[in-house]
Formats: sequence, C-alpha cells, structure tokens
Amino acid sequence: MASYTILFHLAPAADVTVAERRVAGVDVRVLSPVGGPAPEEAFAQLEGWLPELQAAVGPLPMPRGLSLVLTPTGGGMEYYGGSITSLRALQHEVFHMYWGCSTVMRTYRDSWLDEAVNMWYALSKDPALAPIEQSFRSDIVSARSPIGTGFDRRAYDEGARVVEAIARDLGSRDAAVAWLRQVHATRSFAPSRPWTSPASCGRTAASTSRSGCSAGSTRPRGPPRWACRRASGTGSTRST
Ligand SMILES: [Zn+2]
Repeated sequence: MASYTILFHLAPAADVTVAERRVAGVDVRVLSPVGGPAPEEAFAQLEGWLPELQAAVGPLPMPRGLSLVLTPTGGGMEYYGGSITSLRALQHEVFHMYWGCSTVMRTYRDSWLDEAVNMWYALSKDPALAPIEQSFRSDIVSARSPIGTGFDRRAYDEGARVVEAIARDLGSRDAAVAWLRQVHATRSFAPSRPWTSPASCGRTAASTSRSGCSAGSTRPRGPPRWACRRASGTGSTRST
C-alpha cells in the first residue's frame, strides 16, 4: 500500500494503552497493546530523534503530529502522520514522515528512493559506508502501480549506497543532508522525478547516470542541464 495513505486503528479500549505527549513541539500519540512495548520507550527514542530530524531536514510536515501504534516485534509501516511499528523500526518509520509521506516521487517505480534516502541517513553515520560502485547499473523499481507488488529490497542496501555516492559527489555527509533539506523544503507534497533534485542541477549527465538516479526509468533526453529545466517547472504532468 502506498505509504501516503492514512492510518486508522480500531481496538477495544481495554486492550490498549494510550499515551500522549508533546515532544520537540510535536503532538505525539502512542498506542500499545496491553503487555506490549511501553509507550515510554517510544517517547524516549523520540526525545532524541525528533529534534535531530527537525534540525537536519525541517519541521515535521504533519500539522496534527504523530501517531504510533506499537507492535511487540517485527518492522513497521509508515502512513501519513503515523506508523504501525516495533520499537526497533520506530526511527526508520518516523523518518518516512519526510521521505515517503511528504517528499515523494512522482512515480511508484521511483519510490525506492524513499527507502534509499532513509537507510542512507542512518547508515552514513558510519564513515565506513561504501558508495555504490561506479559500474553499478540497476533496474530497481518499487512498483508499477498503486496496487502493484514487487517491492525491491535492493532499495535498502544498494539504494543507500547510491545516495552515498551522491553524498561523496557533493563533498560530505553534511552537504548531502543539506541537499535533502533543500529537496524537502521545495518538493514536499509536489511529487518529482529523481533527477529533478538539486543534486543533479549543474552536474553532467554522466554524473547523474553514475549516481544511478535514473535507475529503472527512462533516461532523460536533451542536454545535460535537462534536470534543472525540469525542476524549474517545464516538466510533464504528475502521474501519481
Ligand atoms: Zn522504510
């Protein structure tokens, strides 16, 4: 299911614990099954994570805050302003409020970048993260339609290393985070193609190809600065 759908959770009141708190200026609601993870553990993570994300990328895009439904095990899934998640996946899912729920790709097949950017942000704190090889070519896609299956797990590993290659091209992790902040500030709720990002503006077509940004999609035609012209508003209509 597309990650920008809404979250609606119905459960008997006696079976759940609900806690609400304002964290870093964000109204947070945490619902946990009785006997499940303690909401306090979620708040403890958010006390550090929300300020970090807001400083790095920008204010949480959801004006009504964040709703989390905790699960004892497993991973998680993001929705607009909420997530069903384990404590282990909580930070990953909250990052998706930025990439996956507000800054989104124009096509479903390009949405692998949601995971790539998300994983890169976490993994790149380790300077040992290796950029994708220059020879890397890929047909990574997310899906062909809103109900299509076939999510590609290469988005998490190879995808993160594609973003690391972009970061190396930009000069540093800080420069890459600044790029993400700029993309988020200018493209939230305005679905774009990967190569409309500022990272490709002013760069050569070869470097865009090297980064793998157009993997799985039709290569852009035209001169190297095609991406910048698309970003300035001469692109085609949105398809999602
Ligand atoms: Zn994810």
